[in-house]
Amino acid sequence: MNYFVRALREAAKSWPLLAAALLCSAGVAALWGANIAALFPIIEVTLKGDSLQSWNERRIDEAESRIEAGKRELAEIEGRLAAPAGDAAELTRDRTRRDTLQLSMRGDQAIVYSAERLAPWLDRFLPRNPFQTVLLVVVFVVASTFLKHVLLMGSTLLVSWVAMNISRNIRLKVFDKALALDRAQFMKYGSAGFMAQVTATSDMLAGGITAVYGGAVTEPLKIITCLGFAAMVSWRLTLACLTLAPVVGFLMVWLNRRIRNVSKNILNRSKGFHHVLLEALNNVLTVQAYTMEEFERQRFRNCTRDMMRTGLWHSFYHALANPITEILGIGMVATSIAVGAWLVINQETKIFGITMTEQPMTVPGIMIFFGFLIGASDPVRKLSGVITGLNIGMVGAQNLYPLLDTPSRLAETATPRAVPSPHREIRLDDVTFSYDGIDTVLKGVNVSIRFGERVAIVGPNGGGKSTLVNVICRFYDPTKGRVLIDDVPLTEMSLHDLRRRIAMVTQQTELFNESIHYNIKYGRWEATDAEIEDAARKAHAHEFISEFPEGYRTMVGPNGFRLSGGQRQRIALARAFLRNAEILVLDEATSQIDVESERLIHEALATYVENRTVIMITHRASTLALADSIIEVDHGVATKRPARQQQAA
Ligand code: ADP
Repeated sequence: MNYFVRALREAAKSWPLLAAALLCSAGVAALWGANIAALFPIIEVTLKGDSLQSWNERRIDEAESRIEAGKRELAEIEGRLAAPAGDAAELTRDRTRRDTLQLSMRGDQAIVYSAERLAPWLDRFLPRNPFQTVLLVVVFVVASTFLKHVLLMGSTLLVSWVAMNISRNIRLKVFDKALALDRAQFMKYGSAGFMAQVTATSDMLAGGITAVYGGAVTEPLKIITCLGFAAMVSWRLTLACLTLAPVVGFLMVWLNRRIRNVSKNILNRSKGFHHVLLEALNNVLTVQAYTMEEFERQRFRNCTRDMMRTGLWHSFYHALANPITEILGIGMVATSIAVGAWLVINQETKIFGITMTEQPMTVPGIMIFFGFLIGASDPVRKLSGVITGLNIGMVGAQNLYPLLDTPSRLAETATPRAVPSPHREIRLDDVTFSYDGIDTVLKGVNVSIRFGERVAIVGPNGGGKSTLVNVICRFYDPTKGRVLIDDVPLTEMSLHDLRRRIAMVTQQTELFNESIHYNIKYGRWEATDAEIEDAARKAHAHEFISEFPEGYRTMVGPNGFRLSGGQRQRIALARAFLRNAEILVLDEATSQIDVESERLIHEALATYVENRTVIMITHRASTLALADSIIEVDHGVATKRPARQQQAA
């Protein structure tokens, strides 16, 4: 609930819009009741050929004469009660009668008071002719229905805007989080997890907010207005009609618990569904090559079936909410019909000894009472949808906020320290690193790389080479020890400052489903076309790009699937060259490039790497030839030596 309250509070920041929506809702509720109340004069007065003014005057006269008669009777009763001795039974009867009379006189005084205040308004605004009054009431009902719908639309749009804005803000935050978390934190949720959060969970939360601000005010307001009007006719009868409310309340609490559980299941299934879908589609080549289509189909069938089952339970409980609340609505109306009919037919004011009305009810009076209760029963039914929406929103909030609250382990300092450009030295000071807190991947690494040095990192698979590079680029922070640039720990630099100094090419080239031009330009967004072409020439990509009919405007497809592995790597290299950064990191960057092209790229590299630090993970002797020194990483232990020593060996 706390998380959902947070979401509501966030939505409340758009309070001017919500206040406007609330005003619209109040207007809707008032017009809802007023429309029903407007029927009263038609039924009660005008159809009898009477005008409202004379009806009102008659009400005053009748009430006043009842008060006079009541006063006389009261005086007699007081006289009898004051007499020294009397029959005990008669005295009790007198006392009861006195109480009833006093109550009824108070009711009549209220009628006189309200009717006297109403009289000038009736004179000013309503015609004396009954038919003209009917016409006026009809026009009022039509106009107020129109106005009610204008207000309803206004309130719906305003609340939708607030909810959609919240949902958008939450999506932006989830996206920001996905970009800010370190790789290990990201993988805890995975792309599928983030997809589900960005789509399903945000929608659930937005739905909950819409339900609360859209219906949680309007519907209860409508109910309160109608019950308020009904209570003005007879508050005791209104209370009597609400006897079913506690039972329905209890059932609703039970139902909401079920809906919340099912919503949680739906969300989990949705995450599983995204997971299976993305896995199969991202690895579709492997699926086809190993003829695992049927296996994947079955997996997808299973998770869609599970989703459907949970969805059906959800629909079931959702549907159950309607009859439960409708029982309350119909129960109210049914009780009012039974009790009201008995009172009217027998012209009684009491039932089971309990006073229901001060005066015996008239047929039009009870009809209008029924009208108000019917008016209250519709919003009662709609309230079930509101409560369901609220529960779903709560589940959404419980899922989203813990993710949003997860601090990125790559926390940035508020006062970053500046490092001169270019730097003098990168130093790893006793760096230990573990991904899971169990296996130590880097063990007390002490290495220094001075500016302009070309370092090759070598070693067996799984030795810790990529991890070492990732720690230098601050994709992870060391578990122990520090990485420093010019004696400034990376944690005290701004991430932006660090990353702008680095250009990186990894073995798994990541390309965007855009043009080649776009993909190279990604290295330095303000670069000119000439600079882009120059970078492409250095990476020996210009030749193959020129052969495409659309040249640099050729679309590369999702993750560059329209290009060969070598072509992709060359575009990634061009992107890194364009960045013109002071630290170049190459993680097996030429592994898929043919020998001849690689030789040409190395020639280009030989001139490009001047005046910058180059860190290359490689197995290739040809790349090693570029290096000044070699860091060998094996089982997390790093040792550095000059490259000539290796060549000599
Ligand atoms: P290399 O680059 O030398 O092949 P890596 O640095 O990629 O080695 O990996 C070193 C060790 O860390 C390996 O045992 C690998 O299983 C483990 N490892 C790499 N990445 C992760 C990760 N994201 N989570 C957990 N373990 C990882």
